[in-house]
Amino acid sequence: MKNPPTPFKFFELTFSELTLELKNRYGKGAYYATTIFREIYVNGNPDVGKPLEFSRSKTFCRQLLRDLEINLNPVTEIKKENGLTKFVTNLRDGLKIESVIVPMATHYTLCVSTQVGCKMGCRFCETARHGFFRNLSVEEIVGQLYTAKFGFGARVRNVVFMGMGEPLDNYDNVVQAIRVMGDQRGMDIPRRYVSVSTSGRIDGIRKLAALNWPQLNLAVSLNAPNDQIRSKIMPINNIYPMVKLREALRDFPMKKNGAIYIEYVLIKNLNDRREHVAQLADYLKPLKVKVNVIPYNPHTDSSFETPEEKDVSRFIDWLVEEKIFVRKRSTKGQDILAGCGQLGKNPLSKDQFV
Ligand code: SAH
Ligand code: SF4
Repeated sequence: MKNPPTPFKFFELTFSELTLELKNRYGKGAYYATTIFREIYVNGNPDVGKPLEFSRSKTFCRQLLRDLEINLNPVTEIKKENGLTKFVTNLRDGLKIESVIVPMATHYTLCVSTQVGCKMGCRFCETARHGFFRNLSVEEIVGQLYTAKFGFGARVRNVVFMGMGEPLDNYDNVVQAIRVMGDQRGMDIPRRYVSVSTSGRIDGIRKLAALNWPQLNLAVSLNAPNDQIRSKIMPINNIYPMVKLREALRDFPMKKNGAIYIEYVLIKNLNDRREHVAQLADYLKPLKVKVNVIPYNPHTDSSFETPEEKDVSRFIDWLVEEKIFVRKRSTKGQDILAGCGQLGKNPLSKDQFV
């Protein structure tokens, strides 16, 4: 007896990949891929049973319903906080991920997770405390955007890979998710509106560079002015020290007037002195960068301290003195990093449901 065909997953494919699958599997043309894409991405109907009233092809329709998986996972918790909407998705194996919808002036930014937990073990990070469970699949990453758009009705323009996990530790799935999200016939998020944030996996940065996607935005969580401090708070620095990281950043392809975003979590009495700013400026000199200063958000059982408002402002003034383009990220309110930098922080409780 013939083996049943292996299933294939809708949310892992671009339009041309779906077209190719339909051709190879069933000898069908782009007409059907167009119908499926329109129904799911334009009409927001992930239940393709209906459009598959391809009355001329009942057999094909049956085959497709049997083989094509259109998996979306349920949102089980929603929490509104300072204008942000955080939602928790329950995955098929019972694990949970968080995503954040951040309102901007004219549109929404979505912060997506790429892993359940994280291996990197940064000492200041809440996600790290939970350890690492697994990588998210392409459909689980893309599903977060679909849910934000069609479940919450958010007009998402930007997608930032700044939720739970280290995106470059799940390189293949993240890159394919960017392709699928960017498909013009689908959700149409162009790469200039996508930012990938990394703790500095140089191998991943180099692979990303080799794609030659100059429009894609790269953010690096540097968080320290020298190796001594960085290794103390980010174990990855022992494998990829700052000099090597800078070489990889120098080689990263960039659009005209583009810059690499440097994230700097400011921790009281650790990386907040004038001399640190001088070291940071020296380190960043060969690069085109924009620095985001994020006041450390305390988490449970942490020995680190949050800097006072005036010390944050002073730190920023020092960076300006060094002629570094800098922005302060607020710890509260409608700020992307306030929303997605510390996912996994509060267990979401029932009384916060909307
Ligand atoms: N793993 C990737 C993507 C996550 S982005 C990365 O680290 O870049 C998460 C951002 O939030 C990072 O820039 C990180 O430095 C920051 N962050 C983590 N914990 C934080 C805390 N307690 N307070 C403020 N920012 C934090
Ligand atoms: Fe992972 Fe980023 Fe948190 Fe570090 S800061 S533990 S890389 S999520």
